[in-house]
Amino acid sequence: MVKKYRGSFSGEHGDGIVRAEFLPELIGENNYKLLKEIKTIFDPYNVFNKGKIVEAYPMDKHLRYQPDREEPVIETIQDFSDQQGILRLAEKCNGSGDCRKPVFAGGTMCPSYRATRDEKDTTRARANTLREFLTHSDKANRFDHKELKEVFDLCLSCKACAGECPSSVDVAALKAEFLYQYQKIHRPSLRTHLFAHNIRYNRLGSIAPWLTNLMLNSTMTKSILKIAKERSIPKLYKTTLKRWVKRNLEVLQPQNPIRTIYLFVDEFTNYYDVNIGIDALKLLTKLNYRVLWIDHEESGRSFISKGYLAEAKKAIDKNVYLFKDLITEQTPLVGTEPSAILGFRDEYLRLADDKVAARSIAKHTMTIEEFIAQEFKNDRITAHQFTNRPQEIKIHVHCHQKSLSSSAHTFTMLNIPENYKPVLMSTGCCGMAGSFGYEKEHYKVSMQVGEDTLFPKVRAMGKDVLISASGTSCRHQIHDGTKRESKHPVTILKEALV
Ligand code: SF4
Ligand code: SF4
Repeated sequence: MVKKYRGSFSGEHGDGIVRAEFLPELIGENNYKLLKEIKTIFDPYNVFNKGKIVEAYPMDKHLRYQPDREEPVIETIQDFSDQQGILRLAEKCNGSGDCRKPVFAGGTMCPSYRATRDEKDTTRARANTLREFLTHSDKANRFDHKELKEVFDLCLSCKACAGECPSSVDVAALKAEFLYQYQKIHRPSLRTHLFAHNIRYNRLGSIAPWLTNLMLNSTMTKSILKIAKERSIPKLYKTTLKRWVKRNLEVLQPQNPIRTIYLFVDEFTNYYDVNIGIDALKLLTKLNYRVLWIDHEESGRSFISKGYLAEAKKAIDKNVYLFKDLITEQTPLVGTEPSAILGFRDEYLRLADDKVAARSIAKHTMTIEEFIAQEFKNDRITAHQFTNRPQEIKIHVHCHQKSLSSSAHTFTMLNIPENYKPVLMSTGCCGMAGSFGYEKEHYKVSMQVGEDTLFPKVRAMGKDVLISASGTSCRHQIHDGTKRESKHPVTILKEALV
């Protein structure tokens, strides 16, 4: 009928599998022969899009789903019901190949592919390999395949795919589940165990931080734990933020606060970046906010990144229980480390037992950048509270912020002082990704990811330009890759107070 009325059965999206077999009929045998010849000139071995346009498969052959396929039942610790199960999430990949975008195309996805240029290291490869095994494996534990270990190995869990893939394939969530299920059978290494449980050991180590720092940075420790010798291990601060808060917070509190907020003292700020936590408290109280703190659990980020999801779930359930009656629109939960605080919007919803409470907390949980930008827009913070000295600032935004929040909040926050000139850098992933960049076998890829966009931009900056980076891993990676120091935006703004 289409042909009879001189129509075309495809529009701007090409012919596709459902129409290609009818092409000879539509354009005529002679034209079709020409089409085939052109394809052969450019692709003599028929490598590209085999069976898609010329010599196309019939529309009902070579399909992903076979008729009467028995749907596998896959138990997961994370709740994937919003995706109709983990298999459906993996199946969302439509093969478009956006995850093979080159660096010059901008964005972040997919840093591992950008570093290695190997299809195995794309988001697509990960989603489809998982789909294959979850669908066809005959093992009791369908995750128990070394091929899966291989494709997930270089995934940095940056979450860029969750935000940039046109089908929102969230490979970081898939990887966490894979590791959890795989490690039920294959015992993780000592290094993995230590990274996952770093808070437990930091608690011990913080009794004598100088000794712990000395030991952890020794060549012997690095060699035993297979940590890249080029790396410096983050140093424990002389005290913890929780101890500091207990001693000092009360005297900082304003007389007539305009609002009350809860500060989430994440494990990275508590042990390493204590100064950033102190800056946040000084900034917020000086801006007339009453800051409260409760003795909560760690965020669960270290557990999640190593696939220790049962341990993560325990911490998450406890935090949800502790915060559920405290966190409201009037009293939001605010955090400084993006990878920790943004978990409330992401993994908490997949792992918490009390979903209603987790959703309610997530709604009122904010990065400090979001909070300050919001308060500025509502005129509760003004430029008059800050210096009018000029300052150029280049901003590198954490991957989880790009995916689960927005770079715009950091810009708004650093743009508050009248003569501050912040610029959002078009940088992808920094390459550190928690413990990933410390691991000997991942060091090269980690540095290559940094070299793709971030390092050259930092090296090209003048000495007077401030570098803003909210992630603890990003700051460490900037230092290791360029020897430049960067600051958390909260420190930059605190130093701008008059
Ligand atoms: S993972 Fe996403 S971006 Fe990559 S091929 Fe699949 S749908 Fe496209
Ligand atoms: S989480 Fe990051 S590294 Fe992993 S597949 Fe997605 S974009 Fe690639």
